[in-house]
Amino acid sequence: MKKTNIVLFGPPGAGKGTQSKFLNERYGLHHVSTGDLLRGEIQAETPLGLQAQELMSAGELVPDDLVVGMIRNLLEDNPDAQGFIFDGFPRTRAQAEALDETLIRIGDPISLMLALEVPEEDLVKRLLGRGATSGRPDDKSEEVVRKRIREYEKKTAPLKEFYHAQGKLRRINGIGSIAEITARLTDAIDG
Ligand code: ADP
Repeated sequence: MKKTNIVLFGPPGAGKGTQSKFLNERYGLHHVSTGDLLRGEIQAETPLGLQAQELMSAGELVPDDLVVGMIRNLLEDNPDAQGFIFDGFPRTRAQAEALDETLIRIGDPISLMLALEVPEEDLVKRLLGRGATSGRPDDKSEEVVRKRIREYEKKTAPLKEFYHAQGKLRRINGIGSIAEITARLTDAIDG
């Protein structure tokens, strides 16, 4: 059977993690968050985690080969998944190309990129609000939050054009209630 592979895209704080949970329940897709995987590596104090930790707390991206390696392992370890929701990946052109290459080799390319769009000032408010309770060091300082948004604008946002060129980009308004946004996403997937 054909798999559904979705890139859930958007700036930090756009709601990718929240919405991934609903999409996972509704479509049975495997949720893959590179941020969560990296935080797991840090927790476990692996060499990879040690390499990532400083960059993450400074609001910078970790090197491409490191996250691409994690994703390749995960795809190999889950050959029977019905499909994947990629959350926080790809974040650079090199990552997007590596993902395409790997998925094409397996036979199931990306179906859609759903791009959540939220204005910067809302993002900063959401992230600092989350930082008050989440314990995530990169959500605590406004400087680091803004640095992450800058990194997104510079290195990640251009990927919309990459997927648009493949006819896969769907822009989704990320302002509204969680349920409203879930409905917009499911409309885009079902339509
Ligand atoms: P958010 O989207 O809210 O910033 P994430 O959990 O997706 O949170 O990412 C947290 C941090 O992990 C990023 O700022 C970055 O340092 C690192 N990271 C996550 N995914 C990637 C990736 N695909 N490429 C490079 N760095 C990544």
